Amino acid sequence: MNERSADSITQTRHDQHGLWPVAETVEDFRRNLATVNARIEAACARVGRDKHSVRLLPVSKTVDEARIRLAHAAGCNLLGENKVQEASRKWQAMSDLTALRWSVIGHLQTNKAKGVAQFANEFQALDSLRLAAVLDRHLQEAGRSLDVFVQVNTSGEDSKYGLRPEDVAAFLRELPAFPALRVRGLMTLAVLSAEPAQVRCCFKRLRELRDQLRQDLPGGMTLDELSMGMSGDYEIAIEEGATVVRVGQAIFGARSTPDSHYWPSASKAD
Ligand SMILES: *Cc1c(COP(=O)(O)O)cnc(C)c1O
Repeated sequence: MNERSADSITQTRHDQHGLWPVAETVEDFRRNLATVNARIEAACARVGRDKHSVRLLPVSKTVDEARIRLAHAAGCNLLGENKVQEASRKWQAMSDLTALRWSVIGHLQTNKAKGVAQFANEFQALDSLRLAAVLDRHLQEAGRSLDVFVQVNTSGEDSKYGLRPEDVAAFLRELPAFPALRVRGLMTLAVLSAEPAQVRCCFKRLRELRDQLRQDLPGGMTLDELSMGMSGDYEIAIEEGATVVRVGQAIFGARSTPDSHYWPSASKAD
């Protein structure tokens, strides 16, 4: 991407933490979605990208069924969830909404892979061959296949899941052994910092890794997708090449659950 002058540096929106307005009506959702879409479009324009090259994935974790139904009425058809049990419960409760598709975006323990194989349309946090094998087996039993993203730890923080960048090439070479998994691209979480340069560095690392991996990919794999950016930093992610942005609070409103609940630092056992 082009270097831009210092006065036009895109900032993070982490200072919004806890302040995102809670959407309680279809109209609220329409307004929040319009704001996010306008920012996506502006970020694309800054780096000469087509706005259609970015997919907005609304993240509905912790949001109850009633509000998800309002979001759906405002146009959200694809929803990201971090935890399998919560996602599975919602999938069952809202099976009448036939246009809804579910994307699991959080770390998955192998003993919960069966649920994902049953209802998910997409899984964005693949980070071990053991999990790939178990998912593939359950998918084959169910006669399904699944779009997957390989999660990469671009920040080097112990608390983040994902493969180390230097381990991704060897990992990808093993994945053709699991035919029910359609490898779409890479996913990352940037360091949670208000400092835009540090955040940008994580996104840039993912894009550069992808470009480098593309020179020698297993047959049929293209790694077209880069899933990066959330409410506080999606505009920077788009400037660095994101094709999927996972946005929760800027659409649904501030969450009361702290992020440590989703990205535990103490229990990375599985
Ligand atoms: C919660 C979550 C998001 C969205 O975060 P917001 O701050 O709500 O936009 C994105 N990615 C992952 C993996 C998440 O768990």
